Amino acid sequence: MNRSDLSNTALSVSNLAKTYVNGRVALKGISFAVEQGDFYALLGRNGAGKSTTIGITCSLVKKSAGKVHVFGIDIDQDFGRAKSHIGLVPQEINFNQFESPWNIVINHAGYYGVHRTVAAQQAEKYLTKLGLWDHRDTASRRLSGGMKRRLMIARALMHEPRLLILDEPTAGIDFETRLSMWEFMQELNQQGITIILTTHYLQEAEKLCRNVGVIELGELILDVDMKSLFLQLSQETYVLDLVLPAKGLPDRLQGYMRLIDPTTLEVDITRGSSINQVFETLSELDIHVVSIQNKSNRLETLFMELLKNEAESIRASQDA
Ligand code: ADP
Repeated sequence: MNRSDLSNTALSVSNLAKTYVNGRVALKGISFAVEQGDFYALLGRNGAGKSTTIGITCSLVKKSAGKVHVFGIDIDQDFGRAKSHIGLVPQEINFNQFESPWNIVINHAGYYGVHRTVAAQQAEKYLTKLGLWDHRDTASRRLSGGMKRRLMIARALMHEPRLLILDEPTAGIDFETRLSMWEFMQELNQQGITIILTTHYLQEAEKLCRNVGVIELGELILDVDMKSLFLQLSQETYVLDLVLPAKGLPDRLQGYMRLIDPTTLEVDITRGSSINQVFETLSELDIHVVSIQNKSNRLETLFMELLKNEAESIRASQDA
């Protein structure tokens, strides 16, 4: 990708690797790009490497190798300018809980060099929008968990970032607050702000995001649009051992069958549909099968786990 392409790209990560000082390999050289205006999900179970990716992008974590560009700016060359484009909503509450929401957002704006008059207007706009205006002078430790998270969003928006990064913004908050946060994020995206969301809730990514990167054990195992993700999840792959080596496959079958080697064929079929049709097609081509097995799908295993997380979280929020 050249520099002019990069300036239309909100975030470009290439060959990003991270090994922590304790020897833990968190990222094994991942590459992906998020286009300007996108709503992008970084999905993966706990410990996959999502926060490390975000931490490096925001220069909170030192990378071991690789490159990161924010709107074409290399973070190694000019981190100050790159940072001015990013609004970060971290996972952990990281404001001084003895301060009021008003002071927290105003101080943040000052840190980014926003003029005081503009900062006051912004503060009113975002604290109102996020349902915190009436609490603007309360010590923030008295706010509910959902309010504290919304305060972090208001704070992140104070310097008008073009890229908003939210790290697990709705983890552990009740369903109603989650819905109103989803609505607000959609509104921001419609106004042109690029959003990257890390989550281990499949439903959240599906509801909000256009594109998705899936991280598993420090590797990006998928980088596709949301529709393709669900298409991949809706199909099963079978591995067929063939009696005799096959010479090739007709073009019309290439979309869903692949010869891995001359005697091994992989076939994708829609989940729940019958494989008999596949056998008929193959026997018309004089291809005969010795054995068949269902290929265990890394993505599927991961998603079964994510769905389980989701079910547990919904149960927990109903119990709360
Ligand atoms: P995720 O955000 O997807 O849950 P993380 O990026 O937090 O994943 O973690 C990726 C891996 O790096 C995990 O194995 C985690 O234990 C490890 N890790 C994260 N932060 C540190 C740290 N400060 N020191 C050592 N290991 C860490």
